Amino acid sequence: MATNVILPGATLGVLGGGQLGRMFCVAARTMGYRVVVLDPDPQCGAGLIADVHIKADYDDKAALEEMAALCDVVTLEFENIPSQSVRFVADKTPVYPAAEALEIAQNRDREKQFAKKAGLRPVPYFALMQETDLQQAADEVGFPAILKSNTLGYDGKGQFVVNDFAELSAAYEHVGKVDCVLEKQISIRCEVSAIVARNVAGELASFPVSENQHRNGILHMSIVPARVSEELTNRAIEKASVLAEALSYVGILAVEFFVSDDDVLYFNEMAPRPHNSGHYTKDACVTSQFEQQVRMMCGLKPGDTRLLSPVVMVNMLGDLWLPDWQSIFTQSNIKLHLYGKTEARPGRKMGHFNVLAEDVDAALVVANEVFERLQGGDAET
Ligand code: ADP
Ligand code: MG
Repeated sequence: MATNVILPGATLGVLGGGQLGRMFCVAARTMGYRVVVLDPDPQCGAGLIADVHIKADYDDKAALEEMAALCDVVTLEFENIPSQSVRFVADKTPVYPAAEALEIAQNRDREKQFAKKAGLRPVPYFALMQETDLQQAADEVGFPAILKSNTLGYDGKGQFVVNDFAELSAAYEHVGKVDCVLEKQISIRCEVSAIVARNVAGELASFPVSENQHRNGILHMSIVPARVSEELTNRAIEKASVLAEALSYVGILAVEFFVSDDDVLYFNEMAPRPHNSGHYTKDACVTSQFEQQVRMMCGLKPGDTRLLSPVVMVNMLGDLWLPDWQSIFTQSNIKLHLYGKTEARPGRKMGHFNVLAEDVDAALVVANEVFERLQGGDAET
């Protein structure tokens, strides 16, 4: 084992205190580590679980100093942490993943360029830097296309489907003429994600590939094993691993792919942290993505990522509130995870549940039935 291994009893820091930070804190505390969260929101879900919650903005130097002083190693749960803040902390205590990887993942154009160089294939796109590029972007990409702001987008925010030049101009105006990518809207057979983990020693592990269904640009369901060929899941894992290696990445890296009708695997985006589509690992794998995050930052060996049961994960958004809890608790094969958020807003991720069954078809039947009952209606699935 490497000499710089960080063992239980040590203090781990996490920049960001949303649900991903909260689940990280639970995993770390379960393993006997102390945890410090930095998040400006006094009510944030991770703050309620952490040993110490530093309530300050992500660019507050004194707060970052305090975090560095308290922690043996620091990670992040939110990719829009300013990379200068990561560098500032990293001068004093190790931070994984590194600021360089974060800066690539924060910017759609940069991540596509990086992926391309590493041999992955992004959807055809044009990097739009100024209004005078609009015509060329339209000519090169064609319509329908999707305009996405280069930075700060998530859950479909900052994205517009455009069908002609007039819609493109209007959307570009609407996003405030910030740097964007214009992507070809492709026909997608399904979406999959590969989550890989890499430690300081360069040891790699990968979780089973998940098949992801979105609604309104937000993840709705993850299905594992994904209903695609083994060759394709192997390819997704290989591509994600190549990216992790090329970034000299330490931590959890999630890579989203589109699968075309003819099995072309298009790189969509990457996340330098655990991912919503990996929440199934909490109940269905030997090691969860959050335990793996702890292991990677602490220089430990990757945990076993074996799938123990077919599983379907369903996101619970604020739209469902208050849900009919009985429809979940009357099922013996559903595991509920709530994020401790007191205010439910439409589109806000409040929790998720994992359905474990003998095969994904059986899990899907239960997942769809329960989701419909939670909604109190008969939503299409
Ligand atoms: P976010 O950062 O908000 O997750 P994504 O770029 O992953 O944004 O887009 C969200 C979803 O929108 C994708 O998971 C996919 O369902 C759909 N989508 C995005 N880009 C394309 C595209 N080029 N062609 C077809 N569908 C797309
Ligand atoms: Mg996405």
